[in-house]
Amino acid sequence: MTPQDIIKIKQLLAAPKQIVIVTHKNPDGDAMGSTLGLYHYLKKYNHQTTVITPNEFPDFLKWMPGENSILKYDSETNVCNELINSADIIFTLDFNEFHRTGHMEKVLEHSKALKILIDHHQAPGSYAQYAFSDVTMSSTCEMVYHFIDMLGDTDVIDVDIATCLYVGIMTDTGSFRFPCTTSATHKIIANLIDKGANNAKIHNDVYDTNSYERLQLLGCALTNLKVIPELRTAYISLSQEELNKYNYKKGDTEGVVNYGLSLENIIFAVIFIEDKQEGIIKISLRSKGNFSVNDFSRAHFHGGGHINAAGGRSDLSLDDTIKKFISILPAYSNALNYE
Ligand code: 5GP
Ligand code: MN
Repeated sequence: MTPQDIIKIKQLLAAPKQIVIVTHKNPDGDAMGSTLGLYHYLKKYNHQTTVITPNEFPDFLKWMPGENSILKYDSETNVCNELINSADIIFTLDFNEFHRTGHMEKVLEHSKALKILIDHHQAPGSYAQYAFSDVTMSSTCEMVYHFIDMLGDTDVIDVDIATCLYVGIMTDTGSFRFPCTTSATHKIIANLIDKGANNAKIHNDVYDTNSYERLQLLGCALTNLKVIPELRTAYISLSQEELNKYNYKKGDTEGVVNYGLSLENIIFAVIFIEDKQEGIIKISLRSKGNFSVNDFSRAHFHGGGHINAAGGRSDLSLDDTIKKFISILPAYSNALNYE
């Protein structure tokens, strides 16, 4: 995004507009934080602003300021279509291609609204008139902070904006420990605390509100953990039956994949989660160092993301997906045994 782009966007936002903010399917902390943070910012300038998520978001984010105003496309399709079709501007946050929005793909593609992309994933699409894309950024929330800063408006950041942006930076950096966390990230976090973000409360609300069943499901996942030491790989599977047994709710498996990476000498961790309703196996991939799970997932599991964190899916059965995974791995032996 060039300084000229910023000048044009500032002019665009000088008068109230109809604005829609969208994010990816199965929204996470960064998706919710960035869309709601931007929502609170735009509301300050009296824009008619709506956040639309493709589907439901996890319970542990259902305290965020503004979350009750969000429209979910899968349950409120008609009103969402009307808003998208009549929007002047659509902000697309925390994703790189329309297909990441699931059933919203077509209506977004056909909408005449001006599109502004803010995102930190690899390989951004070219649909946006203005794109702020930076794969070195910890999170889209960090980018929304920079966006507000470029518009000369950090003074406008209030406790709601600060709280929302804090959530996404915290979740996408693994609580400020992943390599994407820079000194700039910490400076922004310090500013957000100064603006009123209650850091201890936010950590508690996101991480320490587990149900007993969620912990039991984690126990099941850890029991299912398999390790392939010679390929420095660990993987976990959860069948639909196991999910049902522990009364699985959206968000319950968030972060579970990281346990594989906490094993000594393991640099590649994967979780396979059966979703009978969608008829797919949802895959989350994480790595340490140079091994690109973005490339791996793009090549074999219809997905992508970042070098060290990516998603994907498989249309095979759970067993066959794991067999496929194990059969592919040896080809990556050199890449996995770097040092
Ligand atoms: P998760 O495993 O948590 O679903 O995803 C990890 C990261 O990869 C997130 O930043 C997520 O947005 C991204 N991601 C997940 N699935 C896909 C996908 O199919 N394509 C792309 N480009 N990114 C994905
Ligand atoms: Mn993100």
